[in-house]
Amino acid sequence: MARFIFITGGVVSSLGKGLMAASLAALLQARGYKVRIRKFDPYLNVDPGTMSPYQHGEVYVTDDGAETDLDLGHYERFTGVSARQSDNVTSGWIYQKIIARERRGDYLGATVQVIPHVTDAIKQFALAETEDLDFVLCEIGGTVGDIESLPFMEAIRQLRNELEPLQTLSVHVTLVPYIAAAGELKTKPTQHSVRELAGLGIKPDILLCRSEHFIPQTERNKIAQFCNVRPEAVIPALDAPSIYSVPLQYHEEGLDTQVLRSFGITDAPDPDLARWLDVTDRYFHPEGEVTIGVVGKYVGLQDAYKSLNEALIHGGLANRVKVNIRWIDAEIFEQADGDITAQLEPLHAILVPGGFGERGSEGKIASVRFARERNVPFFGICLGMQMACIEGARAVGHSAASSTEFGITDEPVVGIITEWMSKEGLQQREAGGDLGGTMRLGAYPAKLAGNSHVSAIYGGATEISERHRHRYEVNVAYREALESDGLVFSGMSPDGLLPEIVERPDHPWFVGVQFHPELKSRPFDPHPLFSGFIAAAVHQSRLV
Ligand code: GLN
Repeated sequence: MARFIFITGGVVSSLGKGLMAASLAALLQARGYKVRIRKFDPYLNVDPGTMSPYQHGEVYVTDDGAETDLDLGHYERFTGVSARQSDNVTSGWIYQKIIARERRGDYLGATVQVIPHVTDAIKQFALAETEDLDFVLCEIGGTVGDIESLPFMEAIRQLRNELEPLQTLSVHVTLVPYIAAAGELKTKPTQHSVRELAGLGIKPDILLCRSEHFIPQTERNKIAQFCNVRPEAVIPALDAPSIYSVPLQYHEEGLDTQVLRSFGITDAPDPDLARWLDVTDRYFHPEGEVTIGVVGKYVGLQDAYKSLNEALIHGGLANRVKVNIRWIDAEIFEQADGDITAQLEPLHAILVPGGFGERGSEGKIASVRFARERNVPFFGICLGMQMACIEGARAVGHSAASSTEFGITDEPVVGIITEWMSKEGLQQREAGGDLGGTMRLGAYPAKLAGNSHVSAIYGGATEISERHRHRYEVNVAYREALESDGLVFSGMSPDGLLPEIVERPDHPWFVGVQFHPELKSRPFDPHPLFSGFIAAAVHQSRLV
């Protein structure tokens, strides 16, 4: 029987509920339990796929091809459990399903209402495919009191009555601000937030109190008394020096112990925290450092490249070095005074990440050229690989080489494909179709050339599986031209039609991949491409 932990947030947004959920799941997992984390997003978008990275951060893609909230990335990175389509739901997705059913006449003339139809759909979503799990952690997006989140709160209230008495738990994450002028911590916002939650029929069992300051026992007692929870269940969650310290820090504060106690579990094994001790040891005691330039478009908001940022750090953990990331707006290299040499010369490696649209593309292509000509380690991801191929084609005389994503071109080195094979059979899309859900999404296999650099990076593997999110592909018709100049197609889709990986054997480290390896990297299991890339940067740092 799976037990359910409902995680809500109060007072303000951005308290790090996702990280908290991921850390609690990691702690339960360290005690040998099987866990899964789900995210409920109250907004009306059907999925985050079409939301701007500036508004919502990166879109995290699962193996089964869902475009999900970036919190699912935290969940995967902290637990190693691959997220699925069924782990992220939005109000928009639920309403779409319900309205489609209503149009088909499935409700047989009944009035369709938030209670019970929407709440039933939310409950079904929470309970689905949980039979073989010990704990299901359900994080509710937004803040208690938001209009959009009301149906989710009501569904939780109902579930807490319908399931067994010790089968559910409510964890409420709040803020205990420190008012410098008064020199005091303030518990009132927490009291109000708990009252708001209680007004919706949910009594929290555990309060996780985010604070910049130490919360003394007297304040914890006060919160416990006013908020109707056990004093030990008021857990201080102070700002952590790194996200990787959070599981260990919460364990020290007794979070997992109190969660188990609230469930009435008294025979839980002690946690095995070896992997977190190793990760934090590597993180806090590096033996060197490297500086990587990421030449992209959404450099103003690092959440837009969340997984990439983490994967680069994981590569650093694998090599025991600190990774400094310099975010560079590709557009500056398109301006007369954008001195590319001054910007890129001090770097130990260059990465061009995924992206959409023409803006900044010439700056990215110029960065590829710099890395190729100067023998600086280069990693191109998705759009970055496409830019590497366009740069390579221009170098062998196809001066008009471009992508049809940027407009009509006579030299479509990158173009749209309208058909490809997936596990479900032949997939088709229209060139001008809807933007939502028209991409090659999710895990696809690639075959690696036997004696290639990437095959060695992947430990001698000949077939890999990686996650995709793109509409355009490198045009295999240009293979011969590109290979003539040393840009080798070393990974292909199994049917041989879609280039998946390109590399330059005559360069110290030059790899472009059509997929997103950053989505599968974990702190305790860094992705081999990132370990290899950072190792190349370490080597480069000894040369410059
Ligand atoms: N814009 C490119 C495409 O759609 C690359 C996408 C990406 O980098 N994720 O193919």
